[in-house]
Amino acid sequence: MRQLLPFLTLLVSAHLAQGVTIDVDTSAAPDLADFGRRVKATLEDWYPRVVEILNSPTFQPIDRIPIYFDPTYDGVAYAGGGRIVGAVNYYRDHQDDVGSMVHEMAHIIQSYSRCDGWVTEGLADWVRYWHYEPNRKPGKPGPGSHYTNGYGVSAYFLDWINARWNPMNYWINKDCREGTYDVSIFPRLTGKTVDEHWNDMMNSK
Ligand SMILES: [Zn+2]
Repeated sequence: MRQLLPFLTLLVSAHLAQGVTIDVDTSAAPDLADFGRRVKATLEDWYPRVVEILNSPTFQPIDRIPIYFDPTYDGVAYAGGGRIVGAVNYYRDHQDDVGSMVHEMAHIIQSYSRCDGWVTEGLADWVRYWHYEPNRKPGKPGPGSHYTNGYGVSAYFLDWINARWNPMNYWINKDCREGTYDVSIFPRLTGKTVDEHWNDMMNSK
């Protein structure tokens, strides 16, 4: 045992270093307490997986993510300054939407210093739908949509490229985090511009 102990201690600390504590504050809406507990359990469970999906050499582990449910906020949820704010009015009626919280946690893990908005939103939804809840994955974008729409449209597009030039999303995420992202990454790594990829995808079956 004496020899095993340092090894076990190392294992335990390595495990803790990968974990995050999600601090959920539903004090302004006590009826959301159960939902808040579900969000906490899901995000603590998914944190290491999202870190792995959005991994890059300069990623800084996060110890704690506060989530506040705000009765005065009109939208759905947002992430900023290392914390997540969720709208009480929205989550009262959408207690199945833990996925939107996974999306917000992806933003905190991204902590991009330079990126395009559609890429940031697209990758957050790619984490959400292509990994966390593939049963809700959006279908192929319809005519009239554009890759700059963000969210599910951009997620579908980025997955389409990533499937053909794997691991393209790794390189995009890395550049966004390191501040070296430019849309020229598409022709540089794949030989085609982002518009050419979009047309190829829209013209494919
Ligand atoms: Zn977002």
